[in-house]
Amino acid sequence: MLNVENKVIIITGASSGIGESTAKLLAQNGAKIVLAARREERLRLLKSTIEEIGGIAVYKVTDVSSHEEVEELARFAVDTFGQIDVLVNNAGIMPLSYLHEKKITEWDQMIDVNIKGVLYGIGAVLPHMRERKQGHIINVSSVTGHIVRKSWAVYSGTKFAVRALTEALRQEEAENNIRTTIICPGGVMTELVHTVSNEEIKQNIEESLQMALPAEAIASSILYAVSQPDYTAVNEIIVRPTSQEL
Ligand code: NDP
Repeated sequence: MLNVENKVIIITGASSGIGESTAKLLAQNGAKIVLAARREERLRLLKSTIEEIGGIAVYKVTDVSSHEEVEELARFAVDTFGQIDVLVNNAGIMPLSYLHEKKITEWDQMIDVNIKGVLYGIGAVLPHMRERKQGHIINVSSVTGHIVRKSWAVYSGTKFAVRALTEALRQEEAENNIRTTIICPGGVMTELVHTVSNEEIKQNIEESLQMALPAEAIASSILYAVSQPDYTAVNEIIVRPTSQEL
């Protein structure tokens, strides 16, 4: 596909859901994929699946909440393929709870993965992209990066933050020809709900996921953004199930 073939694309959170689906779709379109997440067995299996369909993929076990590991991931991509064309900052967790529950460990984890992980990714690839005067950073936010609801306070806060820092990145790096894209999915059928520890909230989310999109719908949006000509930056995409009101 136009402007996808041979691109070196790092995808964090590639071991399941949106990341996994995006890796497969971009590989099918000729990109060279660097898969990253913590669960090695999942990454190994995905690499094999991509190779079976004639694609190219490598993997590196990475915890995005570690600055050092994310730097190593970027170095690994350059050592393996010589360059990084696209980073998809997709890794995320969603342990929703009410503020009065004071789940401080979960607040910290969401901030570490959903915000700091994205920042570490940007920091790790930016010098390389600035030097080449080209590149594309895609950050996965959420519809909840636009709308806040009860029990979504911290998660929404992290997704608002992803939108804010991506917009600043866009302005700062426009002169360096670096594209940015914010992806805001609505409900998508993935393992994300497994990270919710409040049983009542978890049950509500599971019910609402009856109308959720398949992960492939988000992968298609990411493919669309990547496949545009270099002079076109698709800066934000919101993708909801048609029947989702908020
Ligand atoms: P999944 O739970 O299926 O995928 C999350 C991915 O993030 C997994 O691959 C997981 O891999 C990875 N991950 C979690 N913590 C870390 C970490 N510390 N370091 C590295 N990787 C990590 O959920 P989704 O595919 O749904 O989520 C992908 C993104 O989409 C997230 O940012 C989420 O917030 C966002 N999103 C999802 C929506 C939905 O309805 N599903 C809606 C809106 C946004 P591993 O455990 O192996 O490390």
